[in-house]
Amino acid sequence: MQKINKQNFNQQTSNFLIQENISLKDKNWFQTGGNARYFAEPFDNATFAQSLNFAKEKNLEIFVLGEGANILISDDGFKGLVIRPQLKEIIFNNDFVTAGAGVKFQNLIDICLDNNFSNLEEFSGIPGTVGGSAFINIHYFEFLLSQFLISAQVIEKQSGKILDVDNSWFNFGYNNSTLQLKEHFLLNATFKLKKINEIESAYCKGRRDEMIRHRAKRYPTKGTCGSFFRNFYENEVTLESGGKKLIFVAYYLDKIGVKGVLKVGDAIVSHQHANMIVNLANATSNDIIQLTQKMQNLVKEQFGIVPQPECQLIGF
Ligand SMILES: Cc1cc2nc3c(=O)[nH]c(=O)nc-3n(C[C@H](O)[C@H](O)[C@H](O)COP(=O)(O)OP(=O)(O)OC[C@H]3O[C@@H](n4cnc5c(N)ncnc54)[C@H](O)[C@@H]3O)c2cc1C
Repeated sequence: MQKINKQNFNQQTSNFLIQENISLKDKNWFQTGGNARYFAEPFDNATFAQSLNFAKEKNLEIFVLGEGANILISDDGFKGLVIRPQLKEIIFNNDFVTAGAGVKFQNLIDICLDNNFSNLEEFSGIPGTVGGSAFINIHYFEFLLSQFLISAQVIEKQSGKILDVDNSWFNFGYNNSTLQLKEHFLLNATFKLKKINEIESAYCKGRRDEMIRHRAKRYPTKGTCGSFFRNFYENEVTLESGGKKLIFVAYYLDKIGVKGVLKVGDAIVSHQHANMIVNLANATSNDIIQLTQKMQNLVKEQFGIVPQPECQLIGF
């Protein structure tokens, strides 16, 4: 355990610790990977800034961890500082809700519905925190998080300066946001809600429960990062169906017949979804990487295109 040197920071840091050599295996959905050299769990904006300062002084790389639902961590771990924000405040203000980066998105949905506010339930059952969800701009069918995110506070990596930003700052697209430049990290985000009555709320809760039930049947629910590869961009593919470009990577993976069959060690392509990989029990991150390379090679051989990861590779 390493205690932050108080003299280096403006804010009180009496009970804020930077830990050393902390396992990341139990902190991500794949349940693989090595240790973090340094690990911090800031509980407010000041301790977040202190964590950044610690990394700056030691010249460490930074990785901000959410629920670990869209990452693969190297078996060698991460040599820098892993920051897992514990910013968990949820504040309602008229038809808006502001949630800390560390809030689990499903908790936010549940609390909104309990307070008779709808909009966010379209993302029911998608694992992750508010921070990780804004990073990738979570999406489900026609809904993107960016349709609801109004504003946010982000912290600048270099200076620790906190900025108030609006939706346009994020430059949101499919699987895309300014956060991916890794110059800023999300502290909190504000979403536009719709006030509903008790009956409408009961309907939305039913819809939420049905979506979760449906997803549990359709996708693996543990030992996975969800979709490993992103869908193709239209300019990357030539195949069409009904006049539309076939951009869905799962289509190509299905065609090569890997579902529930292709395997390296304990890493297997899910029998439920051709673009999802599952750790059956004791897979390593290296097994998963080897499996994804096999999948890429097979798609390339048959279709001449190479699927690209959506999953974030950490420490490789
Ligand atoms: C079973 C399953 C189903 C899924 N289904 C879907 C789906 O339908 N739609 C969809 O869009 N996604 C889906 N995903 C992917 C995943 O749920 C999302 O990407 C989710 O938002 C990840 O959030 P996280 O907190 O776990 O982020 P992590 O996996 O911990 O991190 C992902 C990235 O976000 C960055 N990040 C995290 N917090 C912050 C922050 N505060 N500031 C800046 N960057 C940050 C990390 O540095 C990392 O680069 C699924 C995943 C699983 C396991």
